[in-house]
Amino acid sequence: MNIYQRLGLKRVINASGKMTLLGVSSVSAEVMQAVTEAAGSFVEIDALVDKTGELISGHTGAQDSYVTSCASAGIAIAVAAAVTRGEPDGVARLPESSGRNQIVMLRGHNIDYGAPVTTAIRLGGGKVVEAGQSNLAAKWQLETAIGPQTAALFYVKSHHCVQKGMVALADFVELACRFDLPLIVDAAAEEDLRVYVAAGANMVIYSGAKAFDAPTSGFITGDKRWIACCKAQHEGIARAMKIGKENMVGLVVALDRYRDISQARENQLPQLEAMIEQIGALRGLHAELEPDEAGRPIYRVRVKVDPTQCYLTATDVEAKLRTGDMAMYTRHYFLHQGVFSLDPRALHAEEMALIVDRLREIVEGNQHAAD
Ligand SMILES: *Cc1c(COP(=O)(O)O)cnc(C)c1O
Repeated sequence: MNIYQRLGLKRVINASGKMTLLGVSSVSAEVMQAVTEAAGSFVEIDALVDKTGELISGHTGAQDSYVTSCASAGIAIAVAAAVTRGEPDGVARLPESSGRNQIVMLRGHNIDYGAPVTTAIRLGGGKVVEAGQSNLAAKWQLETAIGPQTAALFYVKSHHCVQKGMVALADFVELACRFDLPLIVDAAAEEDLRVYVAAGANMVIYSGAKAFDAPTSGFITGDKRWIACCKAQHEGIARAMKIGKENMVGLVVALDRYRDISQARENQLPQLEAMIEQIGALRGLHAELEPDEAGRPIYRVRVKVDPTQCYLTATDVEAKLRTGDMAMYTRHYFLHQGVFSLDPRALHAEEMALIVDRLREIVEGNQHAAD
């Protein structure tokens, strides 16, 4: 039994990827060893915050970085940095703000990732100003939304965003330079640590737990000047978003390990092939390798359910997987097309076998009843 089962909760098998609803990621023993060590002794926190920022910047290529409790905190703190410019009076008054406090973003970027992104912006004292329509926006619309009250431009990179008809990041960079405004990029779930900094964004926000398998954490990486304004929030709103010393250390160790993780994914390919063969052998199920829709180096197993042979739809099969004694979560965005996908990033070989067994039980059990 795992620790959650001992607390009376279900065992979860996560074939859905990085889901906040399931606890985001599983942290490796090596990272947790560092966390345990860090939790057990004292340190000068300000120096640790600075050192952590320096180590994160080594991965991102930015001038400096600021560690946060999560990416949402990173958004609020980056916005607070832009609104207050680090002035102690403004920092102390947040989340109330006046004057130059508008945050300009595209309507197609106004997403909900489990909470509205605008909530995090308002927590940082920002007033949201949307540009463009939900499905289409032009650079001139972004430009006309900028005025004397504008504190920052805000760009969201996420699979949740509208993916077509939006304004390019390069145009955001150009406008930010032209109007001398900071450009904040929410790259919470992204894996590429360098591309947004290199493109000219001034504060880029990442989650530590999502892509990098760190314990709960996040960070803002970017220009020294703006990161200093972020650090100033520690005497204001950032206090309510405190990250402990142990998770700061866990984050930097996880970032160091990140290269190994990419390698481990390639190594998973033979296991996926085996899984595809086993699932494909079940009557009424077809399985194939599926590359990531966003072009990341991730491979998944796409399972297609033939209801004429299974007497079950993909929706039925997904629900049975999820609501059994062991809760098996899949990627279920395309159930209406008769498919779901298995994301192997958080799966052990033994868990892959448990999923295949459960699929067999579901389809064969039902076929026996129907035949
Ligand atoms: C997950 C996510 C967040 C929030 O990250 P947390 O670390 O859970 O606070 C913010 N923005 C986007 C685009 C996300 O996907």
